[in-house]
Amino acid sequence: MPIDITHDASLRSWVESANTDGADFPVQNLPFGVFLRDGTPRIGVAIGDRILDLVVARDRGYFEGLAPNIAAALGERTLNALFALGRSALCAMRGRLSTSLRADTAEGARAQRDTALLLPREGATMRLPTTIGDYTDFYASIDHATNVGSMFRPDNPLLPNYKHLPIGYHGRASSIVVSGTDVRRPHGQTSAAPAGPPAWGPSARMDYELEVGAVIGAGNSLGSPIPLADAESHVAGLVLVNDWSARDLQTWEYQPLGPFLAKNFATSISPWVVTLDALEPFRAPSRERGAEDPALLPYLVHEQDRARGAFDITLEVWLRTATMRAQGVEAVRLSRGEFARMYWTMAQMVTHHASNGCDLRPGDLLASGTVSGPTRDARGCLLELSWRGTEPVLLPNGEQRSFLADGDEVIVRGWCETAGRRRIGFGECRGAVLPAQG
Ligand code: MN
Repeated sequence: MPIDITHDASLRSWVESANTDGADFPVQNLPFGVFLRDGTPRIGVAIGDRILDLVVARDRGYFEGLAPNIAAALGERTLNALFALGRSALCAMRGRLSTSLRADTAEGARAQRDTALLLPREGATMRLPTTIGDYTDFYASIDHATNVGSMFRPDNPLLPNYKHLPIGYHGRASSIVVSGTDVRRPHGQTSAAPAGPPAWGPSARMDYELEVGAVIGAGNSLGSPIPLADAESHVAGLVLVNDWSARDLQTWEYQPLGPFLAKNFATSISPWVVTLDALEPFRAPSRERGAEDPALLPYLVHEQDRARGAFDITLEVWLRTATMRAQGVEAVRLSRGEFARMYWTMAQMVTHHASNGCDLRPGDLLASGTVSGPTRDARGCLLELSWRGTEPVLLPNGEQRSFLADGDEVIVRGWCETAGRRRIGFGECRGAVLPAQG
């Protein structure tokens, strides 16, 4: 999709809260989500501090002339059907939504008088945006992979395959929850000694992972790989992800087949899917590979991907402990990372995933892996921040954290900002740690 009028930084919305500085959801963003109205899930679009109800808007004739299959998909309880229609459908919707929400159009003037169209975002109950059939988690930050690898293999942090393919594992879809859902500390097997024996109990090393997730739009059929040039046509948009992890369970269980129960007890995602169309002004070249890096196999190389396959998204993790809440202290920032620094682009992850013929389906989630950077303040999980517990993080109120404590609330935020463009944000992905079940 090209840059068009919908990206124009001078556009203002008749929804005044969308025009304030630093708003995540100005009229240039228009992310899709699912909210509850009278107990029923509905598709909506975030605008300022409001939600535009797409069913009401459709039924009142705001999208006249829209293709019937798009209009029908707006009546579904999840975004799977709309996303399945592909990028062109989302682009068409974007155009119509922009026109209806702008302050300077006849449609906008009409919509402004239509009080049934909007609900407050605050207090709204959000649902997962899609029914997620499958979830895959990658490991695309070379800074993260190097940090974690060097804790376990100081002489040889990166394994030989790392620079040749986007490493990933199949996660679990059933335990993905929407932002605002509290997450229970898991029980599991842990072993202090590498050779065992293990003990059973609540994880003592619960962690978060700062990630970005791609929500699949149009799928591919089983047996049909996705060329890199087409990969982005299969992505509807991006969300924030917190891949909760139990490091002590992970250490004992992960060999030889990779993560299992240390990861699948919960994964949180933000409720609003920011479309690739909205992200168009924030593209960046993919991370430059060093002279010492190996050449990639041809299926993972494309000029477009190299020139503009990354996205300039700033990501932050904030923490608010139970004590901070009791003291009335606001959340504190633990780290800030840059999504454009990832070693692999989302398009490369999609293409590699489907390269063996594996079919991706509408609504599937492909998460990036922990987004870390080269500096200490860019480490995207506590395992790295506390360097496996050897350098506890000191909080402003005197508390320390090597890993998460019960009652800790983790808040992931993300946004895009560049000169001459309107800033857009992802909102939040938040969740608090509940004590292990007794
Ligand atoms: Mn992860």
